[in-house]
Amino acid sequence: MNAGVRIITLGTGGGRFVTMTQRRRTAGIRILHQNLNLHLDPGPGALVHSINEGFDPRKLTAVFVSHCHPDHYTDAEVLIEAMTNGMTRKHGTLVADKAVLRGSNVCEPSISKYHQNMTQQTIEAVPDLSFRMEEFQISVTRANHTDPDAVGFRFHNEEFGDFAYTSDTEHYEGISKYYKDLRLLILCVMRPSGKPWKGHMTTVDAIKIINEARPERAVLTHLGMQMLLTGPTKEAESIKQATGVPTVAASDGMQITLGENIKIGKIAKSDEQSLSGFL
Ligand SMILES: [Zn+2]
Ligand SMILES: [Zn+2]
Repeated sequence: MNAGVRIITLGTGGGRFVTMTQRRRTAGIRILHQNLNLHLDPGPGALVHSINEGFDPRKLTAVFVSHCHPDHYTDAEVLIEAMTNGMTRKHGTLVADKAVLRGSNVCEPSISKYHQNMTQQTIEAVPDLSFRMEEFQISVTRANHTDPDAVGFRFHNEEFGDFAYTSDTEHYEGISKYYKDLRLLILCVMRPSGKPWKGHMTTVDAIKIINEARPERAVLTHLGMQMLLTGPTKEAESIKQATGVPTVAASDGMQITLGENIKIGKIAKSDEQSLSGFL
């Protein structure tokens, strides 16, 4: 059996106040497996924390951006610069929602045409689209968010099963059809229960989604200021109590290994990719 899929929460913060204070990092998630080296939602700090944690951004094969908010896209261009060896070779895949690539009535394009043209492939992520990338079949899920084009992603691996990332969304009728039969569901739970905010997920929404989808495990990330003040561990525990699904709140620098079992720990120093050769 191969080593499992590694999912590293380089950053676990979300929302404007956590971004501007960096109470949690806003660096997004790195996903590594065999030939796949993917950065998901590179907010402010994605480049710096990739390097500091030993994940050479030049080894990236894909950058995914779920929607046009700064805590999800700001470092996308610099990661594309690294992925393309300083824009000297067309390389890698960019996957992003329509607003990020082409703008919409709520935002300008988040990534310049210049950068979009340097990847080997650019995929506009719309709900229900499905495409192959290395050892994964990836499908795009729908989010209900203040960027109306926002999406989430589901990853299917024949050996290790499925995991998914909701991005920013509120619970909506039918959301669970995207998240059935998962081993791991990563939810962007910005707010605790009792603090609803349109277009964003609270602990109450997370309970509804988890109850409908019944993943093997759930992880909360993209934690906002109100969530941090309430206590993400406490909120995760309440989700576990309400659903019976083992649920943890992610921390910066956490590594989830999706193998035969799901292991959660810190980034293992010995596993870090060497940055030697960096000029
Ligand atoms: Zn967000
Ligand atoms: Zn957002």
